Amino acid sequence: MNVRSPASSERGDFIREIVAADIASGRISAPVTRFPPEPNGYLHIGHAKSICLNFGLAQEFGGRCHLRFDDTNPAKEEQAYIDAIKADVRWLGFDWGEHLYHASDYFEQLYEWALHLVRTGKAYVDDLSADEIRAYRGTLTEPGRNSPWRDRSVEENLDLFERMRQGEFPNGARVLRAKIDMASPNINLRDPVLYRIVHASHPRTGDAWCIYPTYDFAHGQSDAIEGITHSICTLEFEIHRPLYDWLIENLPVPSRPHQYEFARLNLTYTVLSKRVLLRLVTEGRVRGWDDPRMPTISGLRRRGFPAEGIRDFATMIGVAKSDSVVEVEMLEHAVRDVLNRTAPRRFAVLDPLKVVIENYPEGQIEEMEVVNNPEDPSAGTRRVPFSRELWIERDDFMEDPPPKFFRLAPGREVRLRSAYLVTCREAVKDASGRVVELRCTYDPATRGGDAPDGRRPKATLHWLSAGHAVPAEVRLYEHLFTRPDPGADGDLFADLNPASERVLQGCLLEPGLADVPLGQTVQFERLGYFAQDTDSTADHLVFNRTLTLKDTWAKVQAQGRQGA
Ligand code: ATP
Ligand code: MG
Repeated sequence: MNVRSPASSERGDFIREIVAADIASGRISAPVTRFPPEPNGYLHIGHAKSICLNFGLAQEFGGRCHLRFDDTNPAKEEQAYIDAIKADVRWLGFDWGEHLYHASDYFEQLYEWALHLVRTGKAYVDDLSADEIRAYRGTLTEPGRNSPWRDRSVEENLDLFERMRQGEFPNGARVLRAKIDMASPNINLRDPVLYRIVHASHPRTGDAWCIYPTYDFAHGQSDAIEGITHSICTLEFEIHRPLYDWLIENLPVPSRPHQYEFARLNLTYTVLSKRVLLRLVTEGRVRGWDDPRMPTISGLRRRGFPAEGIRDFATMIGVAKSDSVVEVEMLEHAVRDVLNRTAPRRFAVLDPLKVVIENYPEGQIEEMEVVNNPEDPSAGTRRVPFSRELWIERDDFMEDPPPKFFRLAPGREVRLRSAYLVTCREAVKDASGRVVELRCTYDPATRGGDAPDGRRPKATLHWLSAGHAVPAEVRLYEHLFTRPDPGADGDLFADLNPASERVLQGCLLEPGLADVPLGQTVQFERLGYFAQDTDSTADHLVFNRTLTLKDTWAKVQAQGRQGA
C-alpha cells in the first residue's frame, strides 16, 4: 500500500501521545484500534478522518485496526451499506486483513453478559413504555425517579428476559435496563437501556433474535472481546464513557479497553449528517449516495478526488479535543496538490468555436507532440492530431477586447499550445450577429509553438482538431450548499445551491480521452481537473469537473471566514 504518512512525531496529536505513552509504560506492546461504522448509510469525509486515525495509528505503531460493523439496529441497516463501506475503506487505502467483525457476531456472548448483570442484581426488566422511561429519567437539573419495576427479584428478571428473547412480547413492551443510579448527575447512568424488543429480520442473524443490544451495551463489550486497546470515538460519546467503564468493570470481559474522544470533522458548505444525506438521496435532490456533490467517500471518488488527497487532508487537519469547522477549501487544496503532481494534462473544449487555418493545406494532418505533465517529466509526451479546421474555447476570442484581454482577437497572434502561432484574420458571423467561425492564418515556421525570431504571443490556447475531437457531456460542480454554515437559518434545504450542478452538452475532447479509465482524474488544460463519470458509456462520454485549477485556500485563510 502506498500511504504517504509523516512520522508520528511530526503529527504529534494527543491520541498519538497517549498511545506512545502506553507503549512506553508497558501497558500495551502495540495498539489495537477499530473503525466501527453502523451500516445505515454511506461513509463520508468525516468517517474518512476516523478511518485515517484508527488505521493510521495501527500502521504507525505496528498494531492492527479492525473493521467492525456496529449492526445492532436491524430496522435501519442494509447489506448494500455493508458492501459500500468495505469498498470505501479499501479504496481509501486501508486493509483490515483478517479482522472483519460484526457486533452481531457477539449477540450470544452479549446475551450471556446481560444474564450475568441480571444474576448479580445489576440489571432488571422494565415494563415502562419508552415515553414513561423518558418521563422518569429526569432532566439535567432534576434527578430521575426509580421505575416501579426496578426491584423485581432476580428470578423474575431472568424469567422475563428469557421470555423477551423467546419472542413472547411485542415491540416496546419491555426493556432490559442496567441498575445504576437514577439520581446520577450523568443521565447516561440513570439506568440505561441495554436491550430492546425489535421484531425485525437482521441482515446477518436473520430471525434468530427479536431483542437487540443498544449501542452502549454492544460497543465496549465488543471492544473487550476483540482486545481493542484504544477505542476512539467522537466527542459526543465523552458523556457515555462512565457507562462504558461501568459495564467493563461489572462484567467478566476478557480485556479492559479504554475509550478516547476526539473532535468530529465539520466542513464549511457541507453537511455530514447521515440522516440529512439520506434525505437528499430519497427526495431526489442529488443523483444518489455517490452524487459527485455529496461529501460521501463514493461521491468524492466519482467526482475524481484521489484517495491520497483525502488521506493528506486527514493529516493536515490533525486530531484535536475541541470541535471546530474546517474550510472545505483546505480539502480542495489537498486534492489539487495531489492532482497537480499526478493528473495527465489533456485538451478539451467545453464551449467550442470553429477555427479555420486558411493557409494550412486541406487534408493535411500533423501529429503534435504534447507534454503530459509539466510537473512530472517521467509522464512523457503524447501525439495530438492537428489539422486545418480546429476548435477553440469560445471565450478565448473577443471581437472587441478590453485592455487586459490577451487572447484571440481580430489581427492578433496567439500560440496554439505545442502547435503553431496563428493570427486571427476575420470573425464570421451568422444572421443574428453571433460569431460562428474564425478565419486564421498560421506561421509554418513556428511548429511546436515557438517562433525562430523569438516573438512571443501573450496567450497560449488549447485546441482540438475538428475531424478528430470526441463529443462529450461535461458536468460542472460547485458546492452543494450556498453558505458555509448550511441550515444556520433553520431551513437546510433552502440553502441548497441551485447551481451546484451544470450540465454541458456538445463539449469536445482530445481523442484519447475516450480511453481514460474510471478513477483516473486528468487535467483539462486551463479548465480544471476532470474525471470520467460512472454514467459514461462508449456512445456517450460523461466527464465531471473535479475542481477548477484555482486554489482558494490561502485566500480564505487570509480573510478568516466569519462564523466558521
Ligand atoms: P449515526 O448517527 O448513524 O451514528 P455516525 O456518523 O456516528 O452516524 P457511525 O457509522 O456510527 O456514523 O460512525 C462510525 C465512526 O465514525 C464512529 O466512530 C464515529 O464517531 C465516526 N465519525 C462519524 N462522523 C464523524 C465525523 N464527522 N468526524 C469524525 N469521525 C466521525
Ligand atoms: Mg454513530
